[in-house]
Amino acid sequence: MFSVHSSGWCTESSFSSSTSLSKEHTPVSDTSHIHTPASGADEPDVATTCANSSSSLSSSHSPPEEELSAEVLAQQLVSQFRKSWLTLEEQELLPDNDSMATEDMLSLADEIRQRSRMRGTLTWAPPRFQIIFSTHPTQKRSVVVASQGFLCAGCGTQVEAKYLKKLRYCEYLGRYFCACCHGEGEAVIPGRVLECWDFCRYPVCDFSLRLLASVWHQPLFPRACLAKTKARELARFTEVQEQLVSIKKLLTVCRFSDGVLQELAQLPGHLTQEPLLVSLDDLQRIKRGQLLPQARALLHTAVAHVESCPLCRARGFICEFCQEPDLLFPFHTLTCKRCTDCKACFHTDCFRDEECPKCLRIETRSSQTHTELNSS
Ligand SMILES: [Zn+2]
Ligand SMILES: [Zn+2]
Ligand SMILES: [Zn+2]
Ligand SMILES: [Zn+2]
Repeated sequence: MFSVHSSGWCTESSFSSSTSLSKEHTPVSDTSHIHTPASGADEPDVATTCANSSSSLSSSHSPPEEELSAEVLAQQLVSQFRKSWLTLEEQELLPDNDSMATEDMLSLADEIRQRSRMRGTLTWAPPRFQIIFSTHPTQKRSVVVASQGFLCAGCGTQVEAKYLKKLRYCEYLGRYFCACCHGEGEAVIPGRVLECWDFCRYPVCDFSLRLLASVWHQPLFPRACLAKTKARELARFTEVQEQLVSIKKLLTVCRFSDGVLQELAQLPGHLTQEPLLVSLDDLQRIKRGQLLPQARALLHTAVAHVESCPLCRARGFICEFCQEPDLLFPFHTLTCKRCTDCKACFHTDCFRDEECPKCLRIETRSSQTHTELNSS
């Protein structure tokens, strides 16, 4: 039937955002990527070095040297942890845990092996705290459950064939869970928002429910993630947001702008600075039409400041193509075009890329200076 490889289900595309996952599940025999001493004879040296260095620090207390070693303390903790968390079967495979003498002899490679075994078993590992940006392909329950090795994805419990129908699907992780791990809670799924602008709540396991609640307000999603979304409210908000980001740069260098900046702080800071990142909460407020009016009102206040402030006005540009007296600013994203080289602003209609007057001026001046330098 299905033989499930230790790295089976976790390396699928749905888990692509956590690239380290497959490594953790490398079968324990494969330690080729771990640096280990060439022979067992090296190991006592390592332990001795640690014990010596610590004893020189606190020899006045004079307990046995090993007890002072951080390494020994770590080994004791590992031992305790192993007793409480490993399955009985795995504990039997390990040497006698009570004997610290055995512990001392463990090589670094052994430690790493055992530590990597603590996270789940060879065929199962608990879900990782990861942000999945995509939706999962629709697959038959039997196919997904088989790819999980007929284990609950949350706790690793083996599920008998007659109970497979009882397993509950987690829309976020794209896996099936037992009733203990999936209390039929519901959550907004990031992948569905980013790809389909879908804010419906879907059934998720308890782990995903906690994870998604904890990241709800966090700005984790770059604008590029939303490229597939054609929602008009999002496009409108982005337009205003770009102007806000641009005008905020102007305000932060103006010493009269404290009041306006305080008003701008009504929006989450990440919405008015680069790189443009959004949280799920921002996106839902955009969808509900709550964020756009607020952003527009703040933009209005900021523009009013710039137009009436002598310091900000001094940073404006006059279009060098038409010489019209109206002041242009980079935040006039709809009517003004910025030269990518000299950063000067021009009317979009006037601008011709190949002959930016300011760039020409800079070029002429620098070639004049060169000629003067050469002739002198
Ligand atoms: Zn479970
Ligand atoms: Zn100002
Ligand atoms: Zn012009
Ligand atoms: Zn230019």
